[in-house]
Amino acid sequence: MLIATGLEDGGSNSKTGSMCQLYILRQDMNPLKASQIGADKAICGSCVHMGKVVTDEKTGLRKNVGRSCYVMLWRGPHVVFDAYQRGVYPEVTLAKARKLLAGKRVRAGAYGDPGAIPMAVWETILAKVHDVTGFTHMWRDKPELAAFCMASCDTEIGRVLAKALGFRTYRVRPEGAPKLAGEGHCPASKEMGKATQCAQCLLCGGHKSNAKADITIQVHGPGRNNFQPVLEAA
Ligand code: SF4
Repeated sequence: MLIATGLEDGGSNSKTGSMCQLYILRQDMNPLKASQIGADKAICGSCVHMGKVVTDEKTGLRKNVGRSCYVMLWRGPHVVFDAYQRGVYPEVTLAKARKLLAGKRVRAGAYGDPGAIPMAVWETILAKVHDVTGFTHMWRDKPELAAFCMASCDTEIGRVLAKALGFRTYRVRPEGAPKLAGEGHCPASKEMGKATQCAQCLLCGGHKSNAKADITIQVHGPGRNNFQPVLEAA
């Protein structure tokens, strides 16, 4: 399912600033539970940053180890799912969603991959937005997402492949690694002193943005220590 938050006030995300946040979630399961048992595949595809599901030897329960995704599940995704279960969000048609998002700055995927939602849905609901940012790890299979998403790349070779498929790229690089030709630093990053927020920058809207450059950022978020080991194991 797709849930929009911050329609009225743009929310309080410190990195993005005031933007309507679209969450892509399983309808049937809390995102924490889904991650624990690997059921987040439904909304994250085969992203290497989901972590690995193993069985705990002591408890016999399944658990996730090595998650390197920057999204903190217990914050936005868990809170939004909990509110959904309490019936906080009214269900609307796609036409109504398009109206509600018209003229807004929208982050298409505060959690979950835009590739988990049919392109026809995006085309309808984003038709009248003011600006959009989006990131996808499903760029290998869904090149049509280049229209409004950056390809999330974890390696230099990944960037080359994504560009060959028509994407602008957003590459996470290991700490201390240089940016490459054609890349600009994300100005909301720690290394750039958090100079601005997405709502003002808006470079990351794929081809919907006026920008041509690719973007890079140093590895960050709660899973940053797992980033390199995950890539090496992939
Ligand atoms: S480059 Fe701009 S739009 Fe992209 S993540 Fe950074 S601040 Fe946000």
